[in-house]
Amino acid sequence: MSDAEHDVALEDTDRIHGRTALVRNVAAAISLSNAVRSTLGPRGMDKMLVDEEGNASVTNDGVTVLEKARVEHPTANLLIASSSSQDRSARDGTTTTVILMAEMLQNALELIRAGIHPSIIINGYRIANNKALEELDKISRNADNRVLKEAVVKTSLQGKIDSLLSKHLTELALNAAESLSDEDGGKDLERLRIKRIQISGGKALDCELLPALVLAKTKLIGKTSTFSDGGKVAIIDGAIEERKLSLDAQIEINELGALKDFQTRNEIYLREIVEHLGKLGVDLLIVRDGIADEAISILSEAGITAYRRFEREDLERLSKLTKTNMIRDVKKITKEDVGEYSSRSEENIGGINYTKIWGEFGGAMTVTIRGSTPEIRDEIGRAFDDALGVSHRLTKEGKILPGGGATQIHLARKLREYATTQSGREQMAIEGYAAALEIVPRTLAENAGYDPIDIVLSLSAAQSKKKQDGEWIGLNGNSGEILDMFKEEIFDPKFVVEHAITGATEAAISILRIDDVLWAKKGPETPDWSNQIEDN
Ligand code: ADP
Ligand code: MG
Repeated sequence: MSDAEHDVALEDTDRIHGRTALVRNVAAAISLSNAVRSTLGPRGMDKMLVDEEGNASVTNDGVTVLEKARVEHPTANLLIASSSSQDRSARDGTTTTVILMAEMLQNALELIRAGIHPSIIINGYRIANNKALEELDKISRNADNRVLKEAVVKTSLQGKIDSLLSKHLTELALNAAESLSDEDGGKDLERLRIKRIQISGGKALDCELLPALVLAKTKLIGKTSTFSDGGKVAIIDGAIEERKLSLDAQIEINELGALKDFQTRNEIYLREIVEHLGKLGVDLLIVRDGIADEAISILSEAGITAYRRFEREDLERLSKLTKTNMIRDVKKITKEDVGEYSSRSEENIGGINYTKIWGEFGGAMTVTIRGSTPEIRDEIGRAFDDALGVSHRLTKEGKILPGGGATQIHLARKLREYATTQSGREQMAIEGYAAALEIVPRTLAENAGYDPIDIVLSLSAAQSKKKQDGEWIGLNGNSGEILDMFKEEIFDPKFVVEHAITGATEAAISILRIDDVLWAKKGPETPDWSNQIEDN
């Protein structure tokens, strides 16, 4: 097709091209980064988010800011997706990912303006990324004891909550993660098995970790007590329902007495079920879906306490805690499927009834998130999520790196050295990449009120001056001193740093590849940017 034909084919499409497309995309990345950079580090500031109804919430969490902001630019959405992906897989390092990516793009744009083709930059960035990962392997250390792990988790909570609470949540998160250390399961295991429930009122320091399933529920009406100090439990992954009238039965019903007959049969069926449970010694019945009204009184007569309508995840947690198999059909339950709970109680807090079912077999737990307002509880919940995610991953892969910008300064130094061994143009790209990594110490310095250029220079100098372990020298963001991060106990998990650097590189590269933006015209008004990019 000739250009003219092209233009006809794209009549209903708006288009920006080449350099302009890149410049606009980079501008979007930078404005995104500007929106979150002030939250980075121990002295990062909070953001107040106000939704359409005027409800305000306060957060220090980069990804929360981005996910809640109504961002309409498609590039920005693409980049937010990479920050969300960081959140999903590493649970931390989301702000870092965004500011790194914006800086990589900005440096790339400068190189392009200097006449270097994007494909050379992409190549250089990939080389630099690989080299950086190799270097991370070399300088990482093992967090093989509890004290070190505590320090890592505490670093991840810096600036989010006060230090007393951060110590408390760190304890809870590490204990929760350790309870899962023998369990199989994917990366999200900690979210599946550790339940978080907000309970209104109380102080933040009242947050508790319990080897129990806690949920806002009341047992079905009946004679049984709201308290028990242990017994046998059955979990039904289905419902306890009356038998449905079949087609035949409907015809029969026209005959006198047939309905009565059916009801009697139904009751017999329900009684059989309950009798079966009784024989197995079950005194606590948990049902995922409904329990027929007729069955409730029969269960109560048999002394079985029943709860209905459970989330699948809660069933799994309870199943672990009490070593109970989840069974679809009640009649198929055997002795082996029945589990044991160690106690059960109900308590009314702030007008809501909470049931606690305790078990001794581990594999699941509940954290109660306390705090005076829903906003405070939300923010504590998010902080706990980060702490738990980091703790869980640390128990699997306990490698750590120095925080406070030390790692990035070291990488930048190494990459600059390495760049000289590469061909001219790629060399410039690798240097641009190295400079981009310094955005982390620069921003940490800026947010703590220090001069970013001074800090980066002093860090580089201090690292190169020291013969051994120089790479562990970083900025203590609280005191402004340049010290050994191991002694200061400021650590980042290796998987967080690794994922942030690689995620930022990938996102930057995907933007650099674009040299044409086309979008369908929706009419005379401005195009609708929303929902164009899937988050996955
Ligand atoms: P992110 O969303 O990227 O995790 P954070 O606000 O949690 O952003 O900041 C993480 C950065 O703060 C890491 O680079 C970490 O090394 C650094 N950091 C945390 N605590 C300190 C501290 N006390 N001094 C200096 N840097 C710190
Ligand atoms: Mg963090």
